[in-house]
Amino acid sequence: MVASTAFTRLIADEERRKQRKAERLEKKLNRKPRKWPKKAKHGKPGREPVKHLRSLPYRQYLRSTHWRIIRTEAVKLAENRCSVCGSDSNLNVHHLTYERLGQELQSDLQVLCYGCHQRVHERDRAYRIRKKLRCLFLSTPTQS
Ligand SMILES: [Zn+2]
Ligand SMILES: [Zn+2]
Repeated sequence: MVASTAFTRLIADEERRKQRKAERLEKKLNRKPRKWPKKAKHGKPGREPVKHLRSLPYRQYLRSTHWRIIRTEAVKLAENRCSVCGSDSNLNVHHLTYERLGQELQSDLQVLCYGCHQRVHERDRAYRIRKKLRCLFLSTPTQS
């Protein structure tokens, strides 16, 4: 009799624990993501946390406050000129590396005009294709 009550209590405890766990999970799932201050103290717009920035699709990333700030800085540092041809129209800010996305150093960025930017990416693409082709050749068994 005593043993059986103890057993029932054990089961009830277990049930309660399971329920609490489920409730906690539910709460966690319903919790809204924590917001960063849209306006920071000194009147400057607040930057989004790096973790959030890194979770964004690239197109949306380019619309973030963080990117707008760092991009403006880069253009100012480059004195409004393309770093290849010196043109001052249609300036783009190119990522030399995506390694520090969300917390880029200015040295990770390069200011280019639209034309030079296109050329840089074309060169990248050509390089990738060439590399792929080479792999293909290397992996094709020689027929004789
Ligand atoms: Zn240029
Ligand atoms: Zn680029």
